Amino acid sequence: MRPTGKLHLGNYMGALANWVKLQDEYECYFFVADLHALTTDYADPSAIVPNTMEVALDFLAAGLDPSRSTIFVQSHVKQHYELPLLLGMNTPLGWLERVPSYKEMQENLTHKDLTTYGFLGYPVLMASDILLYQPKFVPVGQDQQAHVELTREIARRFNFLYPKEPAVLPEPDVLLTPSPKLPGTDGRKMSKSYGNTIQMTDPEPVVRQKLKTMVTDPARVRRTDPGNPDVCPVGDLHKVFSTPETLANVYEGCRSAGIGCIQCKGWAADALVQVLAPIQERRASFTPDRVKEILKAGSDKAEKRAEQTMVQVRSAMQLSTESSGGE
Ligand code: SF4
Repeated sequence: MRPTGKLHLGNYMGALANWVKLQDEYECYFFVADLHALTTDYADPSAIVPNTMEVALDFLAAGLDPSRSTIFVQSHVKQHYELPLLLGMNTPLGWLERVPSYKEMQENLTHKDLTTYGFLGYPVLMASDILLYQPKFVPVGQDQQAHVELTREIARRFNFLYPKEPAVLPEPDVLLTPSPKLPGTDGRKMSKSYGNTIQMTDPEPVVRQKLKTMVTDPARVRRTDPGNPDVCPVGDLHKVFSTPETLANVYEGCRSAGIGCIQCKGWAADALVQVLAPIQERRASFTPDRVKEILKAGSDKAEKRAEQTMVQVRSAMQLSTESSGGE
């Protein structure tokens, strides 16, 4: 996950909540992708370090468990610099230019000059981030499947050029994780760039205030007008966070104009506060020193694993090593 600052409920439901569950079944690697942040924020990297700490704290607050999973910062593991360079040697330019987000982000982030080698190459960086751990699966939501597909292509090409048995960079499969529709307070997808988020760290009064200003079914102008939770962003929040009983009351009360939107939003806020309370409690239990300690231990472990892959990669590409003398 890129260090964009404190995470919001969209990040939590779309990724973190799934990751927490995956820890029960899989050996997992989770990292804060600070090098990815540099692909767009290279001109002013001052926010990357503080944001990295915030994201790491949110990882831990959500329930990622350093005793079961490897949690680290990308730039602390030097193999994340090395593999992209090597994979860049054999990744065709056309593959990178046709990545939909390449053009899209260049058009959207007009205030940043993204005509750089690093930005064009970010899919190679991402493929390296994955392939370094020779994983079986990459947990992603539906909208990110294309990224994993490119990683598979890059791995396939590497294995074709440098055939070994077994393959040095096995093609990972997608592990599709649920990413429920989570609207922000303005009804659009919850996203930091829209300024419509509910943060994982928002205290109860802030959550309630944000809910109060949230848009509702536009057809429900007066209290006496019936509404439809299926076209209301607050209804979408209920679907994700409320109990079946509350959800039934929302449908009944909204469609019959039996409840007002203020009451309905209050119920949604209750559900959110209940989800957020244990997360915020856990967040408060980690000191900055403890987070640094966890990230250091995670980086050490990740580096050991990544180096095992790199030994195979260097050998497959016939790179000389110090011990072989370079002749
Ligand atoms: S009652 Fe609830 S679901 Fe219905 S329009 Fe109002 S906020 Fe939306």
